[in-house]
Amino acid sequence: IAMYDAKAQPGTTFRHYQADMGGRADLGSELRDAIRDDQLFLLFQPIVTLDEDRRVLGAEALVRWAHPVHGTLAPDAFIPVAERTGLIVPLGRWVLRDSLRRMAEWPAGTVLNINISARDLREPDFAEVVAALLAEYGVAAGRITLEITESMPVDLGESHAVLHALRELGVKLALDDFGTGSSTLSLLHDVPIDEVKLDRSFTQAPGDRVTVAAGVAHLAQAMSLHAVAEGVETEEQLQRLRTLGYTAAQGYLFARPMPAADFEALLPTAAVPA
Ligand code: C2E
Ligand code: MG
Ligand code: MG
Ligand code: MG
Repeated sequence: IAMYDAKAQPGTTFRHYQADMGGRADLGSELRDAIRDDQLFLLFQPIVTLDEDRRVLGAEALVRWAHPVHGTLAPDAFIPVAERTGLIVPLGRWVLRDSLRRMAEWPAGTVLNINISARDLREPDFAEVVAALLAEYGVAAGRITLEITESMPVDLGESHAVLHALRELGVKLALDDFGTGSSTLSLLHDVPIDEVKLDRSFTQAPGDRVTVAAGVAHLAQAMSLHAVAEGVETEEQLQRLRTLGYTAAQGYLFARPMPAADFEALLPTAAVPA
């Protein structure tokens, strides 16, 4: 069960998820109402360049649930429930709509990474849904990158057409938590990927794990993929990543996930304070 780190969200009061808050089934039925009643909200974590400027390229949208009794819940507390109950589909559509609604107000150069579920890719009309929302909010397809976690079982047989339809639209695709899944290389081979996100275990681990970070950097370069390092917390990690050739990153060193208004204050050109 995920604990929400209250320190991570200055200016907002959060309560920790309690183990006795009730069964998963209850949470599932509450989640259905939560999606309908707009109890979900997005935080935005800046993605910055790794040079001295630390220019804000965009952000990753990260969902939270403002639960009326239990306080703000982190995704680990409810995404698995959503996956099991099928509510991940309406949840994902809520996330997409809210993301694009926000993006319509941002400078056109600002990009956004949005996490999707393997389940979305099994919805035959998913690319049409994305296209319709992009059109509704007047956001160019190339401004969004959909993140696929490779630990989720992407059934390529079922998802292939949807992935290619998304690519056709001009939407970008990223492999999230890159390096932790068992199917890393075969996915790269089969899916039209634009970006890999180095899992934070490799960003943060010292010693021989640096070899993985280096290998991913080389792979990305060879395949012309954008490489983003996740979970950068120290200057030492930043320096190491820079040496390895990474040009973009996100992590607590730069900024924690923040409310939309705070992220918008960083746009279009302001640097993120260290
Ligand atoms: P993720 O997509 O890999 O997102 C990165 C996670 O790492 C976020 O956790 C973020 O807050 C955290 N993080 C960022 N920088 C640092 C750092 O420097 N150190 C550490 N220790 N952590 C850092 P969060 O927000 O709790 O999200 C957890 C996961 O939940 C996400 O992992 C993603 O897989 C899933 N998720 C989040 N939002 C959505 C969503 O809208 N839809 C779906 N389907 N999944 C989502
Ligand atoms: Mg992600
Ligand atoms: Mg990740
Ligand atoms: Mg993750």
